[in-house]
Amino acid sequence: MKIAMCSSEIVPFAKTGGLGDVCGALPLALERIGVEAVLFLPKYRSIEDKGNAVEKVSSDVSKTTIGKNIDVYFIDNEKYFYRDGLYGDNNGDFHDNLERFSFFCLKILETIKNLNIDIDVIHCHDWQTALIPVYLKERFGQCEIFKDIKTIQTIHNLAFQGIFDRRDFPKLGLRNELFDHGLFEFYGSVNLLKGAIYYADQVTTVSKQYAKEIKTREFGFGLEHLLLSKGEKLIGILNGLDYEIWDPQKDDLINVKYSNENIDSDKIDNKEWLQKEVGFKCSNEVPVFGLVGRLSHQKGIDLLTQALDELMTLDIQVVIQGVGEERYYEKLSRFVERYPQKIAACFEFNEHLAHQIYAGSDMFLMPSIYEPCGLSQLIAFRYATVPIVYKTGGFIDTVIPHDNKEGKGNGFIFDKYDRNSFVEIIKVASEVYKDKQRFHKLVEQAISVCFSWNKSAEEYKTLYESLKVD
Ligand code: ADP
Repeated sequence: MKIAMCSSEIVPFAKTGGLGDVCGALPLALERIGVEAVLFLPKYRSIEDKGNAVEKVSSDVSKTTIGKNIDVYFIDNEKYFYRDGLYGDNNGDFHDNLERFSFFCLKILETIKNLNIDIDVIHCHDWQTALIPVYLKERFGQCEIFKDIKTIQTIHNLAFQGIFDRRDFPKLGLRNELFDHGLFEFYGSVNLLKGAIYYADQVTTVSKQYAKEIKTREFGFGLEHLLLSKGEKLIGILNGLDYEIWDPQKDDLINVKYSNENIDSDKIDNKEWLQKEVGFKCSNEVPVFGLVGRLSHQKGIDLLTQALDELMTLDIQVVIQGVGEERYYEKLSRFVERYPQKIAACFEFNEHLAHQIYAGSDMFLMPSIYEPCGLSQLIAFRYATVPIVYKTGGFIDTVIPHDNKEGKGNGFIFDKYDRNSFVEIIKVASEVYKDKQRFHKLVEQAISVCFSWNKSAEEYKTLYESLKVD
């Protein structure tokens, strides 16, 4: 069984969010259970800048290895991929993203053919690789090597569908009928993900709850009817977390390593370091709430900014790290100016600080309005940091609400998406924090969960086997 994993982000080479984490960790987990994978990624300029040793395979393909024996093929094109940013820069999305990623998809199939790589399933992730299932059937259908290959399209976030101007459709090199007959057409534009949902043998998404939600009008982003029509061909498999990278016992990026046994001493050292680093008063009496994520409406940054003035009446500290929309930099900077002792913000993509925020915070804020899976709450669990989430998507599959009477739960969940409910849950969390015994129990329940890749990799293996042609 051999899988070609195709993605625009793969850790440790390229990452802007959870997609990179997942596509880096899943192949390693598969290798551990006997499923071979080869990976395909664009050769961004940053890959060699970071010192990764790659060897040339042909004029536009180079290669390296990860895990025990996983080949990673980089598709090379200076014009398309040697830029700052994966999908865009300060001026917005790159104008030629359709050309860049259609080139990537085509080159992956050509590489499989030219190098005669024996593949059973091609696993595509998000719109950037959505043309692969289409090209496979439309342009490579006659090739013997592709005859029995099946395709999976995984949706990591339905908000990103790869929508382009209809005038760009000819650039894809596909029959015009595919646009005209509604396959790629979406309210007058070209929708790459829609094409993949039609063509892929299987569609998956990243939690069971999100698999249900995307079939509804509220979360379907206009594709709900198509997704509903897939029936059994659409399933949810929960993302896992790479427990090697995210391990407070081994994490070189945090100030003091700690295990579950010495949370009360060594985790607190990380908290102190963080408080000092951002200029807060160092005190374990004050709870630190961390947030690491894209600064976008989806991630609840609007809700956060609506709530911050009221939250600042509480004895709490908030550390925010994220990159995203310009308007949030301005808004959040104003809060930092107003409450320098209580709010800190860093507008950088910075792994080092991110790890330190997971380790140094007592609680982790994720007020996402919707969340396909969410990795940050899984990271928070791992670092003995209690997540505070909205009742949606992958949060429902991973976080159990704190229940003081029963003594159950591993996080805080608010179930009405408004400022009052958000402020209220933080007030409750702060109260629980003051009661050291109660909070300690909550933390113990947070660290006792396991969201490593083991279980989910088995689910993918079962899926691959069900598709494989014998
Ligand atoms: P997304 O929807 O952005 O993929 P996830 O919760 O699935 O959200 O994954 C986000 C990943 O990106 C996590 O590993 C998180 O720590 C990381 N991340 C987000 N923003 C930053 C940042 N500014 N610096 C470092 N890591 C970040």
